[in-house]
Amino acid sequence: MAEMIGDYIPLPVCIANDADCAVFGETVAGAAKGYEYVVMLTLGTGVGGGIVLDGKIYEGKLLGGTELGHCVIVEDGEQCTCGRRGCLEVCARELVENSAKIKQLFRTCELRSLKKMRE
Ligand SMILES: [Zn+2]
Repeated sequence: MAEMIGDYIPLPVCIANDADCAVFGETVAGAAKGYEYVVMLTLGTGVGGGIVLDGKIYEGKLLGGTELGHCVIVEDGEQCTCGRRGCLEVCARELVENSAKIKQLFRTCELRSLKKMRE
């Protein structure tokens, strides 16, 4: 695929994991510029991440990235799409969902308070 794209773009082309590209960009021109050891978490549809060791991207097994979102942080936690239980990604998702519920609860309380104030 890189060769096909290279036929249209007059620059070197390579294909890499998105989180690896993100951490690479930060080391070249962003917040991690000048650092040789960097860990970056990316938050999107899930939790990803990239690692730079000794100035080089650590690509993990099979060039699939480091998959930091699938590090188990809660033993016997909730089931993750990767097959493990208690992954960082699942815990982050629960946190976001619970935050939304708490936010909604506060809104409901505020509305009740406003209603009482008007009465
Ligand atoms: Zn997982």
